[in-house]
Amino acid sequence: LAVIGAVEPRVADAIGQELADQRASLKLIASENYASPAVLLTMGNWFSDKYAEGTVGHRFYAGCQNVDTVEALAAEHARELFGAAHAYVQPHSGIDANLVAFWAVLAQRVELPALEKAGAKHVNDLTDADWAQLRRALGDQRMLGMSLDSGGHLTHGFRPNISGKMFEQSSYGTDPGTGLLDYAAVRARAHEFRPLIMMAGYSAYPRRVDFAAMREIADEVGATLVVDMAHFAGLVAGKVLTGDFDPVPHAHVVTSTSHKSLRGPRGGFVLAQPEFADAVDRGCPMVLGGPLPHVMAAKAVAFAEARQPSFATYAQNIVDNAVTLADGLRKRGVRLVTDGTDNHLVLLDVTSFGLTGRQAESALLDAGIVTNRNSVPADPNGAWYTSGVRIGTPALTTRGFGAAEFDQVAELIAGVLEGTTPTTTSSNEPSRAKYTLAEGLADRTRDAAAEL
Ligand code: PLP
Repeated sequence: LAVIGAVEPRVADAIGQELADQRASLKLIASENYASPAVLLTMGNWFSDKYAEGTVGHRFYAGCQNVDTVEALAAEHARELFGAAHAYVQPHSGIDANLVAFWAVLAQRVELPALEKAGAKHVNDLTDADWAQLRRALGDQRMLGMSLDSGGHLTHGFRPNISGKMFEQSSYGTDPGTGLLDYAAVRARAHEFRPLIMMAGYSAYPRRVDFAAMREIADEVGATLVVDMAHFAGLVAGKVLTGDFDPVPHAHVVTSTSHKSLRGPRGGFVLAQPEFADAVDRGCPMVLGGPLPHVMAAKAVAFAEARQPSFATYAQNIVDNAVTLADGLRKRGVRLVTDGTDNHLVLLDVTSFGLTGRQAESALLDAGIVTNRNSVPADPNGAWYTSGVRIGTPALTTRGFGAAEFDQVAELIAGVLEGTTPTTTSSNEPSRAKYTLAEGLADRTRDAAAEL
């Protein structure tokens, strides 16, 4: 910090403050974690200065021998860790990994007669006229994904994201009664819609997904199954999700982030069956610029960490802790979507406390508990205010929290929700954003959280 502070003290201060804040609060955002010092240090070095467009052994810049070493290592560790035929570790983020996957499927599967006539094989060979044709062809392509309020992600074909502009989109949801995925309904939707790409994976679904069933459905309608395992990659790496619940043997292409439950650097990667390998490797220049060699090096370190037996214990602890947290919340009167969990996250429906997700998120933050508001299925409060709060166990499990601590966390959360009241507006309606916490509750909870 002294080195940074000598140049711009305000940045050094912000870094120091971020560490203090993360230490003083309970980090329960389901997509966050604490990367190891080895991973963090691997990101701060001279690799950041190097350009290396291309792939291992096939670069458009000179002097890439050391980048080749780390990229090859990261890919090798990823293949071994997940039992994948092919790994591409250049995506800078989860959204990039999805874009690479989508364009790989398009390049592989969309027929372009003009291209065939020209004998062109790869996206690099497309002329302007080919691109115009591709854009027209794209108008007919369809993507089926999990609906946003059931826990799906924006990048799975929704309008505000480029995926929703590239593809005609439709979605499958969860059963309104149980909150669980209904595979018969997914099958019916897929047969009706006949997508090119069938997406599976989620940001806010507290249950395992049967990827074998998803592949069966994709095969019936001729779709390519792309699974986005960004949230639960750590549980796949740690062999908590196996058999039908492991996406890697079932999906044609798997995308992921490296920084959530997998506990690596902020970034993305793609795993692919052999028939999609070449197309996936064209991520740069298709949708990516120069790779981030310092982050690929940190991915190699994180994947090596995840291959240690201790990571399997960590992954199992994440799920055991989520179950403890869910039980602790339920027995204190908190309503949970699907009534529980069998992965790393729990989705609270806070309407029984008379609160919106936004009020609950803010009140919990005042009390030193960091979460995020989230839609629940058929959410009456819409995507901005929401009716839910999503919490996850990966970060606090990294801090060593076990059953006793997570039961106390449940006690603190339930106490804050009970002690929060929506403010009444001038027209006597309860506000959807403003709230009051009971006297002293925020300080008491903060102190208890800091002690944990
Ligand atoms: N896919 C899923 C399922 C996610 O939950 C997220 C982020 O939360 C992403 C992709 C995007 O990841 P990134 O923020 O690294 O672009």
